[in-house]
Amino acid sequence: MTSPMFEKIALVGIGLIGSSLARVIRREGLARHVAISTRSAATLERAEELGLGDSYTTDAKEAVRDADLVIVSVPVGSSGAVAQEIAPALKKGAILTDVGSTKASVIAQMQPHVPDGVHFIPGHPLAGTEKSGPDAGFADLFDNRWCIFTPLPDTDAGALERLSEFWRRCGTNIDTMDPQHHDMTLAIVSHLPHIIAYNIVGTADDLESVTKTEVIKYSASGFRDFTRLAASDPTMWRDVCLHNKDAILEMLARFSEDLAFLQRAIRWGDGDKLFDLFTRTRAVRRSIIEAGQDIDAPDFGRQAVEHPAKT
Ligand code: NAP
Repeated sequence: MTSPMFEKIALVGIGLIGSSLARVIRREGLARHVAISTRSAATLERAEELGLGDSYTTDAKEAVRDADLVIVSVPVGSSGAVAQEIAPALKKGAILTDVGSTKASVIAQMQPHVPDGVHFIPGHPLAGTEKSGPDAGFADLFDNRWCIFTPLPDTDAGALERLSEFWRRCGTNIDTMDPQHHDMTLAIVSHLPHIIAYNIVGTADDLESVTKTEVIKYSASGFRDFTRLAASDPTMWRDVCLHNKDAILEMLARFSEDLAFLQRAIRWGDGDKLFDLFTRTRAVRRSIIEAGQDIDAPDFGRQAVEHPAKT
């Protein structure tokens, strides 16, 4: 094993992302000591049962004391309060980062609390599932995914490189961009798909002419692929919607315009328009597979999980 990159890493928040980090940090030997803190005694107890770290506390200040790297993995709407709480205990020279799905809002909430001499580098690993809590994490979560940093104008280059190396060792590729660009990009690749999924599943749930039993029974026709996204954590996604409002509204406006175009093509029997669009979108799926961001198994890889011998 190579020598640990950090003496002490503090994980504030130990849900899906925090616990996946804990597991990959241990597997790769990235820290001599992993301190875990979370808001509730119940989650902390579970993290301890799972053996995710070396010390456990519900007091985030205690966890971050003397830590060289502090990773905040809480819903984005709570990041300001967490930053305020831990700020007095942060060590000079420490790197403070987060994993939040929105960046401009997290920066606005956290930055005012960051003490001089602490390197605050906002980050976002583009890796996740619809599950939450410490049981949901796994060490491979970040493999071949992307971690995006949105450094601030005065971000120290050495600290950024150190954090980049940490995430590379966790399995991700690295990109940097400004926070507004991040928020706009994520609005289309992540936030809008989740909102559409929540919406379609909600519509199906409200239907009266088709029974709920039928929706469930015939779900493999397409519906179930939306239900995975629509099963995502309500707190996390409420916060994402509230904290990336402008970019999401912009993408929803474009989406509604395009949907009206599609609606019109269907109404007027314009098969060529439909065929052209469906051909273009099929090529997008091919590009995703070629980029190694999914596998070419049916049903978004479910077969691979359910019947590993067949793949
Ligand atoms: P999660 O599994 O629900 O875990 C959330 C963690 O935050 C728990 O430790 C929870 O503590 C704590 N927490 C919840 N509310 C809090 C509050 N008001 N104050 C302080 N701590 C609080 O969530 P997650 O999926 O790991 O997401 C964490 C962050 O990662 C979010 O910002 C999310 O946007 C981002 N992210 C998520 C994904 C994904 O797919 N899930 C992907 C990339 C980035 P208790 O359980 O003790 O209450």
